[in-house]
Amino acid sequence: MTFLVEKNGEQQIDVLLKGLFGSTDFGSWVAGDMMLGKGEDIQLINPATGHSFMSYRDAESVVVDVAAAAATRAQKQWWARTATARGQLMWKCGAVIRENLEQLARLESVSAGKPIRDCRVEVTKVADIFEYYAGWSDKITGQVIPVPTSHLNYTRHEPYGVVTQITPWNAPIFTAGWQIAPAICAGNGVLLKPSELTPLSTTALVKLIEVAGIPQGLVNVINGLGHTTGAAAIANTVTKKVVFVGSPKTGRLIAAASAQRVIPCVLELGGKSANIIFNDADLDRAVVGAQAAVFAAAGQSCVSGSRLLVQRGVYDDVVERVASATNKIPVGLPWLDETMVGPINNLQQFNHVNNLVAEGVAEGAVVASGGCRANVDGGEEGYFFRPTVLADVNNRMRVAQEEIFGPVVSVIPFDDEAEAIAIANDSRFGLAGAAWTADVGRAHRMAAQVNAGTFWVNSYKAINVMSPFGGFGESGYGRSSGYEGLLEYTQTKSVWVEPAENAATQ
Ligand code: NAD
Repeated sequence: MTFLVEKNGEQQIDVLLKGLFGSTDFGSWVAGDMMLGKGEDIQLINPATGHSFMSYRDAESVVVDVAAAAATRAQKQWWARTATARGQLMWKCGAVIRENLEQLARLESVSAGKPIRDCRVEVTKVADIFEYYAGWSDKITGQVIPVPTSHLNYTRHEPYGVVTQITPWNAPIFTAGWQIAPAICAGNGVLLKPSELTPLSTTALVKLIEVAGIPQGLVNVINGLGHTTGAAAIANTVTKKVVFVGSPKTGRLIAAASAQRVIPCVLELGGKSANIIFNDADLDRAVVGAQAAVFAAAGQSCVSGSRLLVQRGVYDDVVERVASATNKIPVGLPWLDETMVGPINNLQQFNHVNNLVAEGVAEGAVVASGGCRANVDGGEEGYFFRPTVLADVNNRMRVAQEEIFGPVVSVIPFDDEAEAIAIANDSRFGLAGAAWTADVGRAHRMAAQVNAGTFWVNSYKAINVMSPFGGFGESGYGRSSGYEGLLEYTQTKSVWVEPAENAATQ
């Protein structure tokens, strides 16, 4: 592995990795040790500079096999512990993550290109997630069912054994914590393959939960490419369930590969969520909410409110206010405290955003703000895109149908409630949605009729590990977070006990 020591926060990564792992050699974290891959060389690019700052080699099936064996061993021992003991160790993870908050946030910020202020929030959420599921550990109870025979019938929620988790690049450490915690809470071992573009923070997180006492080998981070390392993990017979967070295109491949093995999968995929402002909304709040909905994380968020539906009575006013506020959002280097919007994570995604905006303009959308690369001092070759407001969008345009996954909002006018619902539901996705209105009855009607796994009223992006999260339609299936997310990591066993002497005849 090589490091280019530059003044771009990258030297921080060198120091942080040495501090955590004792070396800057990077590979997969297997059974509490760094295992170097022998496959294709993968370059990590700093999104703010466009420069490669380190490289590592694809894990491939050789490393996956070792990780699978380690997870199998560790899971048996983990499940043999008492539920209380498992919960106590998970609780300690929260404390260790908080102690290392700043270094985890810096690692994430430099390597994923996310503003440091957002990274601090996300690392804190990871600690919260471990603490939340620590509490569940000794509360996963079954039922006693009053069957119409003399049997005692009861259910047990048992772990699958080893699960494979595959995550994307947009919120690497958050997504890792979001899936690791319920998996081990339910008693599973884990093979986790982060995006090949952002493997550092996930690997650091797993090292730190081992410092907190989680047994080595229970959670293994296999770093490499999707079609090699990810596919090898799903194909490995040790994997008994797959939880995938990523694009619908890859989600189809994951579902097909899981089906070949007759193992279940959860798919947390993309979105094209409708954020709907009615004439009677509190516009001051709605305008702030509309920006936060789409520009946080430079729009690289699955629940991004990327379609802004505005009722005609306030349409011009909202477009003007959102556009002028958008022009003032500080776009900058991600490791600076004042930055609110950082770069797009990678060149391919940057080109995708650029191309879709150009296509939207060609189809008739009007650029009310942004619409092009952002100039950032020190980030001349980085993937910065100006927060963009596209007005007068028609829901049939590609900018209204495709997930842009960048800082771009498409504003669409509507006349009445029925039309707002029709436009919101005219999408193959169904991840989230929101309505801004002073009418309580309308708020509930919208919540009931918009096809989405999450719906907000007079708010956007209020998400917490306590509440279930997941998609309708092409946004995926299965649930994460909350008790429902925990149950995804268990399989139910029905036990029949015949206490009567005539058992053999029953
Ligand atoms: P992606 O689908 O390209 O990649 C996701 C992961 O899949 C990566 O780790 C990749 O290496 C792996 N992968 C790719 N091909 C594979 C294969 N053949 N077998 C096994 N693994 C494979 O997604 P991305 O570009 O990294 O992330 C962006 C997408 O993620 C967006 O669509 C976004 O909406 C979605 N996302 C969804 C949620 C959610 O909770 N619903 C959260 C975050 C991101």
